[in-house]
Parts: sequence; C-alpha cells; structure tokens
Amino acid sequence: MKFATKVIHAGIEPDPSTGAIMTPIFQTSTYVQAAPGDHKGYEYARTQNPTRAVLEKNLAALENGTDAICFSSGLAAQDAVIKLLKSGDEVLSVNDLYGGSYRQMVRVYGPWGLKSRYVDMTDAATVEAAIGPDTRLLWIETPTNPMLSIVDIEAVCAIARKHGILTVVDNTFASPFLQNPLDLGADIVLHSATKYIGGHSDVVHGCLIVRDAELGQRLHFIQNASGAVPGPQDCFLILRGIKTLHLRVQRSCENAAAIAEYLAAHSKVAKVYWPGFAHHPNHAVAKKQMRMFGAMVSFDLKDNTPEAANKVLSGTHLFSLAESLGGVESLIGHPASMTHASIPREERLKVGLTDSLIRLSVGVEDVSDLIADLDACIG
Ligand SMILES: *Cc1c(COP(=O)(O)O)cnc(C)c1O
Repeated sequence: MKFATKVIHAGIEPDPSTGAIMTPIFQTSTYVQAAPGDHKGYEYARTQNPTRAVLEKNLAALENGTDAICFSSGLAAQDAVIKLLKSGDEVLSVNDLYGGSYRQMVRVYGPWGLKSRYVDMTDAATVEAAIGPDTRLLWIETPTNPMLSIVDIEAVCAIARKHGILTVVDNTFASPFLQNPLDLGADIVLHSATKYIGGHSDVVHGCLIVRDAELGQRLHFIQNASGAVPGPQDCFLILRGIKTLHLRVQRSCENAAAIAEYLAAHSKVAKVYWPGFAHHPNHAVAKKQMRMFGAMVSFDLKDNTPEAANKVLSGTHLFSLAESLGGVESLIGHPASMTHASIPREERLKVGLTDSLIRLSVGVEDVSDLIADLDACIG
C-alpha cells in the first residue's frame, strides 16, 4: 500500500458490531468477562483499548514498522524509552535537542543517575568519537529545532549498530510523510503526534514505532506498567487527523518553500534556515532522506535587537504567536523565550540560537496571504 492509501486504510476496518465506517470511541475503563479470564482480549483500558489499538496499527504502517505504542504526550513516549535504560547509562543526543526532551533527560532522569551528553550529529565522525563506555542510546532529532540542521540517519544508525547502541529518531518535525527512520536503520521512531500527525492543534499525544518484536513488547510493558496512556477520544482525533496527513504536509512544505525564498530575498533579513536551500550545509542529506524539505523555517533579522524581533513576533495576524507546530494554521514563535527557554543561554548561543531568532511553522493557508502578513511586519 502506498502512503496516501495507508493513511485512510491501514489497520482500519468498519466496526464489526455496527458497520460504523469510522473507528468508534470506546469510552470505557473495563470490559465484562463471561467467567474469570474468559474475555474478548480486553480486560482493563490502561492495558488495551480498541480505539487505541486501531491507531497503533495505523501508525505502525505509516512508519513501515510492525508495532506502535501510544502515549498521552510526546514526552511520555520519550519517558518510556528512557525507562529501557538503567542508572549509570548514558544517552548521547543532538545538541539542539527539543527543549522539553533536554529538560526531562537532565532534570528528571539526571538525579536518577542517567548521564546525558549533547553533540553535533551533523558529522557522523563526531558522533563516533563521542561514544563512551556507558553510551547505550543515541537520541537523534532531524530536522532539529529550531536551527533545522539535518542528521544523516543512515550514517549515524550504522555507527550505533556497530557499537551495539540503540537509536531513537524523534521524527516529529518531518512527519512520517517526509521521512521513515526505521527504513534508514533506526530502532525506534518517536513522534509528538500533537504536531503534524494530529495536525489540528486540538490534542496532545505521543507514539513510538518499532520493527523489533521484543523491543515492542518491552515498550508495551512500560506503557502499561507506567500508565501514561492516551484516552480513546484523543486516539480518535489523531486517527481523524492522519487521514489528511499527506495533503496537509505537502501543502505546508510548498508554502514553506515559497516563504523561505521570500525571506532569503528580503533586504532586512540576515539569515534563513531551511534545509531546502542548495547552500544549506546539510542539503544533500536532506534530499537523500526526506521526500520534501519540511514546513519549518527559522530566520534572523539584520537588526537583531529584541525590539525588531518583537515587532514581527507580535505584529503578524495570520501567523499566531504560540508554542507548538505542525497544525493547519501558521504559527510564529520565539525559541529563546518559548520552546528553548529551559536550555541555558550559552548552550543556545553555541548552536546559533540567538535572542532574535524567529521560527515559523507554516500552515496550509494561501501562501500569498502568508507572505503579505510577514511583509507588513518586516517592512
Ligand atoms: C513537541 C515536541 C516534543 C514533545 O511532545 P509533547 O507532545 O508536547 O509532549 C518532542 N519532540 C519534538 C521535536 C517536539 O516538537
């Protein structure tokens, strides 16, 4: 099945009891048993829920995996992955990691004895040199947030495999429509489905997708034993969002390309970060592993004072100033004070995340309206 067919059909059958064409929301906490242990495969809703089970089958298909495990948020999905490790183990992560991921590794799991280090993963040789005796997990995010660097998933996963290290790719920024890390050698794909997969900014949700049955079983065990499961209504909303994933992401990417070109040609813009530019340092890798270049664009103004950035951040009408990304509506954000505020300033500056950097999540509106909205504020 091709991607556009999978989003509609993979794992989805009309409800056998009623013929309902849409997956019902099984809003129940428990299931009746005819005799102790005599049930229809469902005992208690933390462990199994039919709406969630359909979503897990569909997500597994979208990432070319065999199993998906759903959580109440992207960070709950990350939390389950970290629980595969033990005290003294080390995670080696990309250096411009999502702020919430960094906060969990350092501030929640640091006191439990988890070690974490952050390296530039755009060069595979740097990754190999950074691997230490306690490194058990490589945490890849690509494109990275908000600098939109690209990590060569195939090259880095090959190094990890050689050293017997598990790899996770946070595929949130690309979505399964643009990039499938399991095909490139990753062990686990993570999504904050809050973003592109849900796509309508109306639900918080996370998932993991794997190909190895034993790894899938361990993660399902943690899902049930730790309990950060999504409710059936949230699973329904994610299933509904997925049906148009390919259409939304394609249009968003086309709009982002036009906006990146517009910004690059603007006399008041200093620098535009978008992996679709031929001069982007990792353009060739992006071209190799992604179907399109994504719908996130970051830029810095020549006048890099907070006042100039604020004029744009608070002046747009169609781009709403808000956290998050990946919805049908365009958003504008200020990483230094919003998504990346939990990362120390010196760490931020090291990767080029200045106090005046502006990040756009480009939606599916008419692109000429979006450009006019920016133009009115940049001047
Ligand atoms: C939002 C996000 C997360 C966290 O997901 P939540 O659903 O907000 O918990 C993780 N990684 C990336 C790249 C994100 O954008």
